[in-house]
Amino acid sequence: MAHIINGKEIAEKFYEQIKVRVGEVRRQGVEPCIALINAGDDPASALYIAKKEKLAAYLGITSIVYKLDNDVSENYLSELINSLNNNNKVHAILLQSPLPKHLQFRKIVDIIDPNKDVDGLTTTNQGKLLTGEPAIFPCTPLGILHMLDTVHQNIAGLHAVVIGRSTIVGRPLAQLLLNANCSVTSLHSYSRDLPAICKTADILISAIGKPLFVGREFVKSGATVIDVGINRIEKDGIKKTVGDVKFDDVKELAAAISPVPNGVGPMTVAYLMSNTLSLAFRCC
Ligand code: NAD
Repeated sequence: MAHIINGKEIAEKFYEQIKVRVGEVRRQGVEPCIALINAGDDPASALYIAKKEKLAAYLGITSIVYKLDNDVSENYLSELINSLNNNNKVHAILLQSPLPKHLQFRKIVDIIDPNKDVDGLTTTNQGKLLTGEPAIFPCTPLGILHMLDTVHQNIAGLHAVVIGRSTIVGRPLAQLLLNANCSVTSLHSYSRDLPAICKTADILISAIGKPLFVGREFVKSGATVIDVGINRIEKDGIKKTVGDVKFDDVKELAAAISPVPNGVGPMTVAYLMSNTLSLAFRCC
């Protein structure tokens, strides 16, 4: 039976360190502040923004939410981001995805000043991740590395398999694991023979958004399994949230496994706050 990597508990411990850093920044006369931009009417986004607002308030970080209509123009959004770039009271800017369909995420995200890019998604910060320069890196992959730290003394030399190659999770995660000296395999929707490749992983991470896709046939005995997926399903008339991994089957085989909910999700939000402080410190 696997050790459960409880992201909620790990995040709650991490809050204590974040609070210390909030105190340090405030003592320097800086009030850490994050702008949260939520364009459109995606119900999951509204929920995530509310969680971010709540945690910011708990930790003593100011948050300002910009709720924009589904038909917001590219021009309006660009002007908003530019004004936040020029506002020295705002240290961090988050552009919640998905954007309404008429807007291109890559084009809009690159308007954010890389020095305020709290989720490390601008081309500048993603490039720095690739070249190994210090920068702000995406929150979900940072949270996953922190979770791995709780069960591995050293991940160097381990084979890490990442399923999914989005710019927000899969790609930066693969790069961070490579920077930590793992041997890394990236799998995606064109990959063949997924179960056989995944079965060679010491660390298996699924970030695809396909409910209960990863079963026992993907998992080597003794592996660490991290489930990033957040999927809403309906079973026997009841709606619930599940990950990409068949938790009950896989936990019998893995040495350690993260659940959904209370896995990667809380770590992502905690790292959003941690990155906000890293950016606020630059102003001290
Ligand atoms: P995305 O849709 O941008 O990317 C999905 C990736 O999965 C793609 O690279 C695609 O090639 C790959 N993929 C899809 N189907 C596949 C298949 N059958 N076999 C192999 N690869 C396949 O999604 P995303 O933004 O990276 O998010 C992925 C999942 O993680 C979603 O469920 C999302 O809700 C969740 N997520 C969770 C957190 C968190 O904090 N827990 C954060 C971000 C995303």
